[in-house]
Amino acid sequence: MAGRAVILGAGESGVGAAILARKQGFEVFISDLGKIKEKYKNVLRQFELDFEEGKHSEEKIMDASLVVKSPGIPDDAPLIIGLKKQGIPVISEIEFAGKYTNAKTICITGSNGKTTTAMLTYHILKNAGVNVGLAGNVGKSFASQVATEKYEVYVIELSSFQLDGMYQFKADVAILLNITPDHLDRYNYQMQNYVDSKFGILQNQTEKDVFIYCSDDNIITEEIKERDIKARQVPFTLGEPEKTGAGISNGKLIIQLNEKQFSMSILDLSLQGKHNSYNSMAAGIASMVFKIRDDQLRESLSDFKGVEHRLERFLQVHGIEFINDSKATNVNSTWYALESMNKKVVWIAGGIDKGNDYSMINDLVKKKVKAIVCLGKNNAKIHKAFGKVVNDIIDVYTMQDAVKSAYYLARNGDIVLLSPACASFDLFENYEDRGKQFKAAVRDL
Ligand code: ADP
Repeated sequence: MAGRAVILGAGESGVGAAILARKQGFEVFISDLGKIKEKYKNVLRQFELDFEEGKHSEEKIMDASLVVKSPGIPDDAPLIIGLKKQGIPVISEIEFAGKYTNAKTICITGSNGKTTTAMLTYHILKNAGVNVGLAGNVGKSFASQVATEKYEVYVIELSSFQLDGMYQFKADVAILLNITPDHLDRYNYQMQNYVDSKFGILQNQTEKDVFIYCSDDNIITEEIKERDIKARQVPFTLGEPEKTGAGISNGKLIIQLNEKQFSMSILDLSLQGKHNSYNSMAAGIASMVFKIRDDQLRESLSDFKGVEHRLERFLQVHGIEFINDSKATNVNSTWYALESMNKKVVWIAGGIDKGNDYSMINDLVKKKVKAIVCLGKNNAKIHKAFGKVVNDIIDVYTMQDAVKSAYYLARNGDIVLLSPACASFDLFENYEDRGKQFKAAVRDL
């Protein structure tokens, strides 16, 4: 026996970790404080894994030799503190799975753009014929793929919570997209703690590895000055590219790496908007590290379909364009959404605010937003922030009402943008539920 592995949380990553642990010869126990989804229970039964739900039985957890914790469980939960006090290692699913594969990894983190960049990078590599897997927030967990597949390269999206549970893992290629305040409730409201967590993506990297980052982001560049970074640094910027790096010059996206230059018109990029130029550059650099041919890279950057709920333009009704950006759960992503709008906007916003500072979008709202539909249990902060800038601000509590009101307020040629800048849990199951309800309500108009 390899020991006793206890898995806390039976979602996609926990169940994947359980399958891998069993394969590696661990005695496995899975415990979830909430209800386990039926589809995961079936998998656990199929693999004959011992599990419990609705509680954490301490006596069955405290004798673990190793604990794999779901990123949803905070480090200061009493159970986690207890385990650490006993000297029992508590790690994330990615750390655990990383021990059992020799595949190369491209790891992507940042406050915004992780999923888009991960899916784009995967799309490029896969189209070029690389034997590549995609893991992290989308699709199958890294651990279950390590247990059941044989990929040579993985593209992995890493949240700061995943990074917090990683110690020996190393990314061969690390991408840091941006750092803006988010999830500060989990970091004692200390920005530096959150920055340190994001820079965890560089842990254990050597001279042979690559660090791709946004050099327009001051928080990142200031932090780099403070650190001794071993990996080869490849910055990207909306300005002129560095000798090694990516940038925009005369309407062209340019990537320079290993004495090679790649270029294509930014008009041919399938993902539009400044934020997406960053994502395309980051994915493009990573692909060049893997020596993807120029023509293949160009083709994939231009035919990528985009990701649902991220500035998704899905329908026009009577000349009004509806855009679903339900995934915008913080002010920074809404900033990019508003920034890329070229028509008058009726903005649907609100939900659970994770400490938003709306002043950073005040000018954009003044310039582009003609009305605000607040869709949250408590909208006082939005009223306070924009009451003097926008005349029409109304409150609604269901998606149907939000869409009907926005439709009523919009005119031919306007845009209705759902970009909430907030989490969704007050009125919806999650951001996907919010986005799907939005699209259904628009189709019902
Ligand atoms: P994440 O996985 O980091 O949450 P997503 O790709 O799901 O990122 O996008 C989340 C939101 O952020 C969407 O509203 C999207 O339009 C916006 N976004 C995407 N890329 C960036 C970026 N590089 N900078 C800022 N916002 C971005």
